[in-house]
Amino acid sequence: MRLKGKIAIVTGAGQGIGAATARKFAREGAAVAVCDLNADAVNAVVGACRESRTEAMGVAVDIADRQAVHDMVGQVLERFGRIDILVNNAGITRDARLQKMTPEQFEQVIDVNLRGVFHTTQAVVDCMVEQQAGVILNASSVVGIYGNYGQSNYAASKFGVIGFTKTWSRELGPKGIRVNAVAPGFIDTPILATIPDEVLEKMRSQVPLRRLGQPEEIANIYAFLASDEASYINGAVIEASGGMTL
Ligand code: NAD
Repeated sequence: MRLKGKIAIVTGAGQGIGAATARKFAREGAAVAVCDLNADAVNAVVGACRESRTEAMGVAVDIADRQAVHDMVGQVLERFGRIDILVNNAGITRDARLQKMTPEQFEQVIDVNLRGVFHTTQAVVDCMVEQQAGVILNASSVVGIYGNYGQSNYAASKFGVIGFTKTWSRELGPKGIRVNAVAPGFIDTPILATIPDEVLEKMRSQVPLRRLGQPEEIANIYAFLASDEASYINGAVIEASGGMTL
């Protein structure tokens, strides 16, 4: 078990990649704090994690709410006493072409994907600095590297996440904390629900592997990066797109 005895917080862990990551971390021996907006989904994933006979706790939290995030981290510290791993996974889309995008759509995405990641990381960082150890993993996207039609807000937020990753890896590396990002291609989760079938089919055909990724395939990368096996990986952006961007 790669993460035996580690304490991990996973945001957006109610479904999709976050849920797969929480379950994978539990199978690898970590105690997991499952955080999400959706309380029912949190409870279900906590139950699934406990099947691996590790401890798990659930917190319903909106990561865009700075105070709520600080309270969540306080609860995790009260329960487990330390935080070894933070996966900043929660993220949303509100797609529209530049000419049609409303300021509300822009703000909602920035509030969650950028401000939320900032709030959550600030809330855990003092604890990791005190421990002189920790791993922070951020969810970027290939869209943050290459852009995408109809996703000005999302692309800017995911490019911003890469900026966070590179900056924090410089600031925190000397304090024993590694910071990395994962940039998935198109992964088969509910976030793709609004995309029409014909567009999904076109996306599939652009991938040399000829399929979308599965959430578990991204969870495996987070588990590796969170583990001591990745001890010299810092400031990296790991692209996992089935070769879509070649
Ligand atoms: P998803 O929509 O399936 O799940 C996201 C989860 O985050 C949901 O459970 C949702 O309730 C939660 N969430 C949303 N806003 C929140 C908030 N303010 N506070 C707390 N929780 C909140 O998404 P997914 O496909 O699993 O994606 C996970 C991450 O990976 C996101 O950051 C996404 O941008 C990124 N990503 C996904 C893909 C993909 O193709 N699925 C590709 C690249 C990057």
